[in-house]
Amino acid sequence: MSWNIGILEVGTIPRLPMNLYQPDASPDELIDPVCFCYLASDGTRNVLVDSGPDRARAAAEDLEIFGDTSALLTAGVRAWGIEPADVDCIVHTHLHHDHMQNDYMFPNAVVYVQQLEIEWASGSECDQFYFGARELVATLGDRLRPVTGDAELFPGLRVVLNAGHTPGHQSVIVETIAKPVCLCGDIVSFFRNLEVIGPICPNVQETRAFLDRARIAGWEMVPSHDPKVRDHRLYVALAEGGSAASETED
Ligand SMILES: [Zn+2]
Repeated sequence: MSWNIGILEVGTIPRLPMNLYQPDASPDELIDPVCFCYLASDGTRNVLVDSGPDRARAAAEDLEIFGDTSALLTAGVRAWGIEPADVDCIVHTHLHHDHMQNDYMFPNAVVYVQQLEIEWASGSECDQFYFGARELVATLGDRLRPVTGDAELFPGLRVVLNAGHTPGHQSVIVETIAKPVCLCGDIVSFFRNLEVIGPICPNVQETRAFLDRARIAGWEMVPSHDPKVRDHRLYVALAEGGSAASETED
């Protein structure tokens, strides 16, 4: 089964220290990580991978996000040729706020998350970037679909558990005409993280094991926050004013 993928941009996080991601970066170097989501379709199903941050919800926690996040996501979904109500399911790489805050825009979607990640996000030891996660889990109710370990969700679309960034983090492997594409999530935030592992992935052993596995498998790796992903052939660009400007792969 072959899928089409579109990469959507939802907003940027201003001024984070680059050495969070790349330990060899100068302490003064700042970066504006871009928040991407991905739409995948096999012709019958529309799957959204992550839903990005919500500017207003982040502001309520004193976190700044640049961009009109919900407008950008809506425009991106429409540029792909569907409406938010047509999204059948969402797969979360993990439950940090910048990956899941727009689930509310997709009323018909069931939501796949690793069971471990749900438990971690509901516990007392998780970091502050999980704000909104408990509320989301409660709101989803029986639309939430916990996943345990590696799993094929649909023919040609599967998740692999890789606990480098958070305990229940997963990446999504999608079969396309060209080759399998790995929507990495924060286990690979920047292309450079294919070679170097930053403090943002505290479980170095798990991260390294996943990178080795990916190399052997030959997946095309798509990082979660690298501005260079804007140049990717699957990036869905928006025209001035938010309307569709480019096509997706066919
Ligand atoms: Zn994260």
